[in-house]
Amino acid sequence: MFKYLFSLLFLTILFSACTLDINHADTIYYNATIYTVDSVNSVAEAVAVKDGKIIAVGDFNSIKMYQGEGTILQDLEGLTMIPGFIESHAHLLGLGKQARQLNLMNVKSYEEMVAAVAQAAQNTPKGEWILGRGWHQSKWDSMPSETVTGYQTHEALSKISPDHPVMLVHASGHALMANAKAMELAKVNLELDFGEDGEIIRYPDGSPTGIFTENAMEIIQAQVPQDDPESLYKDLKAAIAECLKYGITSFQDAGSDAQAIEIYRRAIEEGEMQLRLWAMLSFSNYDQPAEGHDPFLEEWFKKGPEIGDWLTIRAVKLYADGALGSRGAWMIDEYSDRAGHYGNPTLPVDIIDQMAKKGLKHGFQICTHAIGDRANREVLDAYGRAFAEYPEITDHRFRIEHAQHIDPSDISKFKEYGVIASVQAIHFASDRPWAISRIGQLRIAMGAYRWRQLLESGAKVINGTDAPVEPVDPIPCFYTTVTRKTRAGDALETDQKLSRTQALRTYTIDAAYGAFQEKEKGSIEVGKFADFTILSQDIMKVPEDEILNTKVVQTIVGGELKYEER
Ligand SMILES: [Zn+2]
Repeated sequence: MFKYLFSLLFLTILFSACTLDINHADTIYYNATIYTVDSVNSVAEAVAVKDGKIIAVGDFNSIKMYQGEGTILQDLEGLTMIPGFIESHAHLLGLGKQARQLNLMNVKSYEEMVAAVAQAAQNTPKGEWILGRGWHQSKWDSMPSETVTGYQTHEALSKISPDHPVMLVHASGHALMANAKAMELAKVNLELDFGEDGEIIRYPDGSPTGIFTENAMEIIQAQVPQDDPESLYKDLKAAIAECLKYGITSFQDAGSDAQAIEIYRRAIEEGEMQLRLWAMLSFSNYDQPAEGHDPFLEEWFKKGPEIGDWLTIRAVKLYADGALGSRGAWMIDEYSDRAGHYGNPTLPVDIIDQMAKKGLKHGFQICTHAIGDRANREVLDAYGRAFAEYPEITDHRFRIEHAQHIDPSDISKFKEYGVIASVQAIHFASDRPWAISRIGQLRIAMGAYRWRQLLESGAKVINGTDAPVEPVDPIPCFYTTVTRKTRAGDALETDQKLSRTQALRTYTIDAAYGAFQEKEKGSIEVGKFADFTILSQDIMKVPEDEILNTKVVQTIVGGELKYEER
């Protein structure tokens, strides 16, 4: 018996010695300011990584013991390391697609836009579409001499692109410009009618000027060939590269359909999935929403969630309303700049009820787009009814995407129900200047972009950019979160800004929580993925206005260098 115990003891000692030996790091990163984002926000100076995971964090002396023969010592020369940024709400394929279109966000005149198209025409085979996005006539330095209802007209554009159909979407996404070739393909003529909500802008004689708004956009859009899998795959790779450039190591996609998921799988197979993707499934039966039955989703509900290091699918995306700019956000009280108009729901509330219950039953998070205060209230209440029906499920992590305008009386429901507020602080910088005309001073002051109030009420707040609506770069978003400054530099409703520590958490550990992944990522702690972002300066300490000058020096995913600034 003693002999047996003794040999057991001996084996244990031997085993411990072995594990010590095994614990030599592949890489030790040192000489950095490391914001670990652990539960007490501790700061370290070195981290040891093995097999893509973190095996030790601390001061250099304590980490040095993990150095073995093959260990690479990586001197970070005083730079700042944070857990890899987690983008909580954006559109990966949309981001990639944007990269192959003309970016017109910075053109300063119609002439400049025409010149950009002329150049693209030289590099595009005849007959192929030239697509662009981002122009905004009210941001131009000058307007052309001829305008109709405040918009430029197509002649100059058509003249330089006789062999290519051209479609250029407005920055708002609510209007587009087409050239003569595109209008010819779409058979736009004097009589063409398209239904309601939108306009074909016309000359007094009835001929089209090239501008199409709202639903009329579909006339032109329908002519653009559907994306083939090959170009979608290219889009995905371009989007991943773009994310890595900005230090994003995990991406939460706000709406993937069956085709997108196939593209993701191909990327994993071919070793091109360089960041960790968590995707919400698109609820797609908009044609018959009353049915509440979506074959694509039903199949997933039957199968259950899929959880992996590179792709996780355990959430569903719904849309409860539209956007504030187009007055589609569903409000409790009428719009301040349109009497009797409240915006509108885009999905019957009882479908949200049904989907919430199905989500709970089958283990899927429900993530619902809600911008207006009425939409937020309806979604919270629908979630609440579902939770009441499944009281045994206490950890569901349902989310509201955007959570932009919330009636003060509804704020506490986020904490009460455990609903995550998935906000995009950068929208504040872009939209706050005009949002006040839509909903007025009182609703702006009491219920708009309530990040701090949500956080202090005990709710989880997670952060992102909604790219390609905004640039995917987390730094301007982080900056907005901590300054409440608009693009023009005005600090507004500053009581709602977050501290830098809070803001960093919304982009790392809390974002991970929003996907049930806080045990694997979101902080620099032992056992987690070695996903790191190395920054050129200390975003937690530099003067506020310096934050925007921060560059990503390296992006590391699973211990591998995926991007390096050159
Ligand atoms: Zn979105």
